[in-house]
Amino acid sequence: MTRVAIIGAGPSGMAQLRAFQSAQAKGIAIPEIVCFEKQSDWGGQWNYTWRTGTDKNGEAVHSSMYRYLWSNGPKEALEFADYSFDEHFGKPIGSYPPREVLWDYIKGRVEKADVRQYVRFNTAVRHIEFDEQTQQFTVTVHDYDQDALYSEVFDYVVVASGHFSTPKVPEYKGFEGFGGRVLHAHDFRDALEFQDKTVLVVGSSYSAEDIGSQCYKYGAKQIISCYRTAPMGFKWPKNWSERPALLRVDQSHAYFADGSSAQVDAIILCTGYLHYFPFMQEALRLKTDNRLYPLGLYKGVVFENNPKLFYLGMQDQWYTFNMFDAQAWYARDVILGQIQLPALAEMQAHTQQWHDEEKTLTEAGQMYKFQGDYILELIEATDYPTFDIEAMRLIFLEWKKHKKENIMTFRDHIYRSAITGTMAVPHHTTWLEALDDSLETYLTEPEVVQKKVV
Ligand code: FAD
Ligand code: NAP
Repeated sequence: MTRVAIIGAGPSGMAQLRAFQSAQAKGIAIPEIVCFEKQSDWGGQWNYTWRTGTDKNGEAVHSSMYRYLWSNGPKEALEFADYSFDEHFGKPIGSYPPREVLWDYIKGRVEKADVRQYVRFNTAVRHIEFDEQTQQFTVTVHDYDQDALYSEVFDYVVVASGHFSTPKVPEYKGFEGFGGRVLHAHDFRDALEFQDKTVLVVGSSYSAEDIGSQCYKYGAKQIISCYRTAPMGFKWPKNWSERPALLRVDQSHAYFADGSSAQVDAIILCTGYLHYFPFMQEALRLKTDNRLYPLGLYKGVVFENNPKLFYLGMQDQWYTFNMFDAQAWYARDVILGQIQLPALAEMQAHTQQWHDEEKTLTEAGQMYKFQGDYILELIEATDYPTFDIEAMRLIFLEWKKHKKENIMTFRDHIYRSAITGTMAVPHHTTWLEALDDSLETYLTEPEVVQKKVV
């Protein structure tokens, strides 16, 4: 029987499991599937841990998420086309749920599909090698429950191990003598640690914006963010200033490219992540930076140099869960023989065209359209339920506008689902005032919260 290995049971790996199960539910024979997950539960980044560094098995901690993390984009832009928020929660909720609420939603679909049986948890993939003669992969794993290494042979491999876990850590002059804490965003867990402190946030993308906002929300004395290329440029609260590049630090101060300096208590490097696949044989390793259309992947999914290998979710992400679905359905249909791939030169030319187009994009609005078009191209090739991607693009534009208006209140806005047409309802508490991010509190009816306050 044909065998498929899926590496990782985060949202992308879970999408691959659901894709195969949905074909099976339609009476299509599916291959034998084994999903290897190094953590003891599924959900990938959304499976929060307080740990930093290594996990209980000595593996690098995977999740970069922290306490109090809420979705940074509207949930209406990541909704599954085959499993709506309405179906999961049975009532409309807010548009920017906290991590635990979104984790619950992701799990709901695969629990319904009953695919947990395919996952071998506590099992880290150590090495993947392709044999040209047999045209098969040998996958070697460490099963931590048995404390045993073993290898199995597969016909196809789907890598869904994520790319926001291995921190990119720059070195600045003076770090070794700095008197406070220096950490990467990957190790940031709880903003309360920085209450009453002056925090320097290095970087100008989502982690910088959100970790700085967390520190503000939970009582940091002052936030300074600094950029290498361009400022984030939001209307920051009074105690948040934005400065150009960090040049060096001494025991207590940071020095910036505009000649200014400031006393800081802690430095958080929000400097991004590396695509890192230490378990892949060199010839099978995807090499890319964080971009919308990496080279080497036909349709952003098929590894061109070996089309029995697939990578899911390796793009920089505006769209997330529904994009992973579009990719998983596409990979599934290549494996099932329902999609025929063109010759290598044609695949490469197609990828190059998209890659070149990406380089011409200068505004976020163009990027929403670019990634939306990409998703549509994939969906058109499979039976994944199509959805109104244009409506989602408009939601992204609204989101951008709301962030520009007020970076501390954008999460209080609501949007209409492009899948069900349901309008979200405002959360009972504004994001800035909502200090408890638990699922239970989030789903509490507004009247009950009101009563509690009285
Ligand atoms: P991951 O979620 O990273 O899952 C990969 C899985 O592979 C993990 O379970 C991991 O344990 C497993 N794995 C890795 N290596 C191995 C190995 N060698 N052997 C076995 N298993 C392995 N997206 C949004 O839509 N909204 C948000 O608000 C949002 N917030 C984010 C906040 C942070 C701090 C970060 C870092 C990302 C955020 N994202 C957000 C993007 C997030 O990456 C995606 O939502 C999603 O988790 C990606 O899914 P994935 O399955 O591709 O990767
Ligand atoms: P990212 O988007 O890749 O951004 C990396 C940032 O680091 C860029 O601003 C980059 O600046 C800067 N940088 C890189 N190397 C640097 C160096 N040597 N010196 C100074 N700056 C440097 O990474 P990210 O912000 O960590 O986001 C990763 C993912 O996590 C995204 O998908 C995001 O949506 C998600 N996330 C979500 C939330 C949430 O609220 N739910 C929170 C955090 C993160 P240049 O522009 O100069 O390259």
